[in-house]
Amino acid sequence: MYLIELYKSVQGESSFAGLPCIFVRFAGCNLRCAWCDSEYTFAGGKPFTQAEVIRQIEALGPCKLVEFTGGEPMLQVKELLPLMDELLARGYTLMIETSGERPLDLVPKAVHKIVDVKCPGAGSAANSFRLENLAALTPNDEVKFVLSHREDYEFARAFVAQHDLHARAGGILLSPAFNKSPSPLRTTDNATLDPRTLVEWMMEDGIDARLSLQIHKFIWEPQKKGV
Ligand code: SF4
Repeated sequence: MYLIELYKSVQGESSFAGLPCIFVRFAGCNLRCAWCDSEYTFAGGKPFTQAEVIRQIEALGPCKLVEFTGGEPMLQVKELLPLMDELLARGYTLMIETSGERPLDLVPKAVHKIVDVKCPGAGSAANSFRLENLAALTPNDEVKFVLSHREDYEFARAFVAQHDLHARAGGILLSPAFNKSPSPLRTTDNATLDPRTLVEWMMEDGIDARLSLQIHKFIWEPQKKGV
């Protein structure tokens, strides 16, 4: 499999936010979200065998939480699924961050899927969510909407209701998009949508969702890689 980086840091998003986590970042993505903060994953990557990945994960321990991210890890599904099986057998808790555009039905149910639904503000990636993936969601999973503006918020609110996401997944994440060229300041000024505005909308609506800030962008400078 082709990886960009493999490192230990703190989980920045989802209901696992704040926990130590080992990140396995896969190379390559077939989408081009307007606000993508991982464009350095689009090309390149270094080849790894499954044994090498497991050896590096174990060397970063003790830490039993591993996230597969990218890029889009599901583009390397033939290598990824056996790796998931092996790590589950070794007692790891696994997460995958995925765009939701690739089929997810073969991902082991024990893996916590953090599945994006791309909103209009994602530009060319908007509406790329594969609707068949709704059937693959379990209470272990969380559905994430990255929001750039009010139109995105209303899209997310409607999508949650239309597809009864609360009955399908364990949680809904609303995450403000970040500027592609943020200042080095570790502040919300780098968010495209002010989190305070988003929280006010959530309060007005009484929406049952979790504000998801990428806390690594407040702990370190927003453009720092490998954290
Ligand atoms: S799916 Fe992820 S890696 Fe791919 S373009 Fe969108 S944000 Fe970037």
